[in-house]
Amino acid sequence: MSKPEEKETFSFQTEVGQLLDIVAGSLYSNREIFLRELVSNASDACDKLRYEAITAPLLVEGDQEFRIEIAVDKKAKTLSISDNGIGLNHQDLLDTLGTIAKSGTGAFLENIKKDEQNDLGLIGQFGVGFYSAFMVAESVDVLTRKAGETEAWLWSSDGKGQFSIEKSERAGRGTSVTLHLKKDAKEFLEDARISHIIKTYSDHISFPVMFDGKALNEASAIWTRPTKEVSEEQHTEFYHHTAGAYDQPWLTMHNKVEGVVSYTNLLYIPSTPPFDLYEPERKSHVKLYVNRVFITEETKGLLPTYMRFLRGVVDSEDLSLNVSREMLQTDPKLAKIKSGLTKKVLTELKKKATKKPEDYAAFWQNFGAVLKEGLVEDVALRDRILEICRFSSTHNADLTSLAEYVERMKDGQDAIYYIAGEDATKISQSPHLEGFRAKGVEVLLLADSVDEFWLQHIPQFEEKSFKSVTRGAADLDAIKDDEKDEKKDEPKAPVLDALIAAIKLELGETVKDVRPSKRLTDSPVCLIADDGDMDVNLERLLQRHGQLEGGMPRVLELNPNHGIVRKLAERADGEGATTDDLLKDAAHLLLDQARILDGEAPTNPAEFGRRLSGVLESAL
Ligand code: ADP
Ligand code: MG
Repeated sequence: MSKPEEKETFSFQTEVGQLLDIVAGSLYSNREIFLRELVSNASDACDKLRYEAITAPLLVEGDQEFRIEIAVDKKAKTLSISDNGIGLNHQDLLDTLGTIAKSGTGAFLENIKKDEQNDLGLIGQFGVGFYSAFMVAESVDVLTRKAGETEAWLWSSDGKGQFSIEKSERAGRGTSVTLHLKKDAKEFLEDARISHIIKTYSDHISFPVMFDGKALNEASAIWTRPTKEVSEEQHTEFYHHTAGAYDQPWLTMHNKVEGVVSYTNLLYIPSTPPFDLYEPERKSHVKLYVNRVFITEETKGLLPTYMRFLRGVVDSEDLSLNVSREMLQTDPKLAKIKSGLTKKVLTELKKKATKKPEDYAAFWQNFGAVLKEGLVEDVALRDRILEICRFSSTHNADLTSLAEYVERMKDGQDAIYYIAGEDATKISQSPHLEGFRAKGVEVLLLADSVDEFWLQHIPQFEEKSFKSVTRGAADLDAIKDDEKDEKKDEPKAPVLDALIAAIKLELGETVKDVRPSKRLTDSPVCLIADDGDMDVNLERLLQRHGQLEGGMPRVLELNPNHGIVRKLAERADGEGATTDDLLKDAAHLLLDQARILDGEAPTNPAEFGRRLSGVLESAL
């Protein structure tokens, strides 16, 4: 490609343009975070070059000391952040600053729109931190030269829809970002203010941040410091930097491990879920360092995907610097580290789960669904993961472990009952639970889609099998009810044979069977999957993912004690039942009602409407 000699002008990609409008126009009070973002980028740029230089030492020849420099020009009202990191060439500038939206751009915009406080502080988390410069700058210049290249480039923009790139001059490699400060942002020219911000946000940066000839930070990697010497504030800052996050870490794990393979881990579990948690790539975000040299952030093979909520750093001297990132991922030493880390995290989680269940509930709310993926993926650690799994149940509003559930099981109860569905509130109101509630039999409420999958792999816990309350016969008779039986004087349930025969005849193939129900106490009907058939929720899930077409006919259960069913049973026993149109309509209406209670639509909405109107009219 021929390199342009003239100044070129480009339009920001649409979403980037929208983001800039919001950032530039915002009245966000915590604007100083722009400096954190720019210093963080400068530090990343040094990290990148240090890695490249392992295999291409010429890239850093003559300038081995990485550093970041802050400078102000009070007259020109500019503030600049410079680094001697990797730098950007013409193509890099186009790719990273404006013409292509990063995956987090849209997510950030959405977040800002729904968040009334417009917390722009989160900007780094979405991978668009650079643009925070426009909170305080009228215009921004990026003068940059890529390591190993001779041409320098100047990127400029006032953030109003367009930016330009032109050829320029720059003595050394690296990047200078110069902000032409807005009138109301003069405070960022003051020495004391700048020093304070850097000390607050960037003390942990492992390259010296120079200002007026002095380093403002310690410039030693925080994880190399003795565990006890790192304060909570320092952890929080570092976590913000490394995770691009803005919350407090929910858990901090700082350990030095000596062994066959030695390593240091400084891992954090966030207290709010990161935006990309459920993206299909299931990316890891823990940074891998070899002897303090940053290698990569998305290391496959460092941690299991079901722990992708972790943030932070792992550093090992025992890994080889002289192999490619790809080779490193298959290094058996890395596998050792992974195994050690995984167990460590599970141990820490177990501690929290047993000692601080309320605290643990917050973690579980955020990341339980992710951790449960491990039940399917990590057979070796399955039991340890299951031990720290928590579930909603009908017992009370707290989460329960499986062990606790088993302890509460009733005499004669031989299964762990659950109901699975998409919506926690909906399933907790499902008619399928009525009989279980009435008998005080606890049912687990499983509302994560991953639940269906681990249930396929784990048929039992402590020799008790898992059983869906929407499937098979409800063997509630065998279970002892320890509350006094108050329903003694309830009228005897009618015989439903004739009614069942009539409904079967009318519904034909649409139902697999019609049976009296033991699981219903209040609702007249429900649909269940027959023993051996696929559970209703799983079927629905597979259909939605296009892995299953059509479905199995279900079993329609009738509540013999319900008023409607009683009356219909009488009617079906009487004369002329075979020509009774009301009975026929009722059969369809009952089936549709059961479908609606399951959150589905009637089979044929028009017919449903016609029948409902008919029955109502005759009742009026
Ligand atoms: P992030 O840092 O999360 O990738 P940013 O919006 O802060 O997102 O930066 C966008 C990209 O711009 C960076 O990924 C990097 O490629 C490039 N960049 C920004 N600042 C620098 C710099 N000082 N040196 C080299 N590249 C930079
Ligand atoms: Mg950044």
